[in-house]
Amino acid sequence: MEKREKKHKKKNRSEEAPNGEVAEVIKMEKKEKKEKKKKQKEKKRSIEVSELEPLSANGSEEKKKRKIEETKEKGEEEEDSKTVSVSGENTTDKKYAPLTSFEQSNLPENVLQCCQSFKKPSPIQSHAWPFLLNDRDFIGIAATGSGKTIAFGVPALVHILNKKKQSKKAIPRCLVLSPTRELAQQISDVLSEAGSACGVKTVCLYGGTSKGPQISALKSGVDVVIGTPGRMKDLIEMGVCSLKEVSFVVLDEADRMLDLGFEPEVRAILSQTCSVRQMVMFSATWPLAVHQLAQEFMDPNPVKVVIGSEDLSANHDVMQIVEVLDDRSRDDRLFALLEKYHQSKRNRVLVFVLYKKEAARVESMLQRKGWKAVSVHGDKAQHDRTKALSLFKEGTCPLMIATDVAARGLDIPDVEVVINYSFPLTTEDYVHRIGRTGRAGKKGVAHTFFTQANKALAGELVNVLREAGQVVPASLMKFGTHVKKKVCGGLNAKLYKCG
Ligand code: AMP
Repeated sequence: MEKREKKHKKKNRSEEAPNGEVAEVIKMEKKEKKEKKKKQKEKKRSIEVSELEPLSANGSEEKKKRKIEETKEKGEEEEDSKTVSVSGENTTDKKYAPLTSFEQSNLPENVLQCCQSFKKPSPIQSHAWPFLLNDRDFIGIAATGSGKTIAFGVPALVHILNKKKQSKKAIPRCLVLSPTRELAQQISDVLSEAGSACGVKTVCLYGGTSKGPQISALKSGVDVVIGTPGRMKDLIEMGVCSLKEVSFVVLDEADRMLDLGFEPEVRAILSQTCSVRQMVMFSATWPLAVHQLAQEFMDPNPVKVVIGSEDLSANHDVMQIVEVLDDRSRDDRLFALLEKYHQSKRNRVLVFVLYKKEAARVESMLQRKGWKAVSVHGDKAQHDRTKALSLFKEGTCPLMIATDVAARGLDIPDVEVVINYSFPLTTEDYVHRIGRTGRAGKKGVAHTFFTQANKALAGELVNVLREAGQVVPASLMKFGTHVKKKVCGGLNAKLYKCG
């Protein structure tokens, strides 16, 4: 009907206009439409200054609350619109139908308490729970921020509570392995809060801090052990951490764990767990080495749920700016960018560097220039790492320098700008780094320095920029667009040992 009316209007217009002018009018209209579309597109892409200002500067608390709600809802909508693919044996059975509400799970109130502030299950939760609550081995390809901690956390609690019906004793029955200490701590925070509502105790085991309190916690009895591979292995070898009753195992960020070269530790730890166990693996990508690990330790045909894509692609909510420059001009450019992006000194800006020494140098250089900054890198004592991260998270010090230890997994709210002072060793790390901004439906900016030394990655970076509809600078194209063929699953392993 509408179409017919439009056609009719168009016909009338051509009847009204004198000969020769018709084509011109239509041409002008087309031009106008094109201009309008272009403007809309630009508006969508550009990050307005007001969006970069801290919310509190915008006025009343009411406004702030509404804006948070709106962006949260937008984030949820975007998460919902992602494609979900489910594969594996017998996945279409009615009992595995995705949940549309938390109530539909029929779980007790105390178990669902951790979901109280959420309207409905996120896609990964909605798809994972039916399988996990029915004891299936599960592979989830989902990014951090998708709600995956609760996706495996709630079924883990249910598993433990069922086991506790046989014996009330608090012994480790669930193990969660994480590649980094910060991610382990984040998971532990979520699970200990969720567990406290139903009498499940957790402990977080990671290196860089004294073993004493961790050993005491283990001795006093825990149900869930969350840890990083190195410390876990140490404590097992010391005979203070027994995993023989662990029948629910989660490998979080499995690809990163193998990238970091933890495969021997992971294998050694898994071999200590109960042979009859439920295995859950979460990974952002699915390289061959992770696939092999799954084949070895999981059911022959586990369920695999992919939220979005298995291929790494950048978050389209992030405006990517790549600046090709000379190595020595990076410091001055960094000062200029901070003046531009961090003028208010209240918005969160994350600066990524490659090496630990570089992180310390950039931190003190910025401090000398009067910027209040903290840093997170592998040369720092764990206590200082944790402190820096919490100062950044709570906004007391919203400027942080970090190596790739902070590139993945961390759910830091409202990082408005990511600056890549040094380009990472892989394009995957680039995508993870810039993914620290533009979260929960918000827009973000990623400003990247690219130097001659990074030229081998130019082709891959061009592809990432193109896929996300970003501007590809001519200066980057000069390095060529050749993309080196990847050795499948061949993990740039030890190279990563820089954080
Ligand atoms: P992840 O790191 O993947 O566990 O995601 C954690 C983030 O997702 C946190 O900010 C949670 O508050 C948020 N989240 C978890 N579950 C939901 C849900 N069902 N709806 C909305 N946000 C959620």
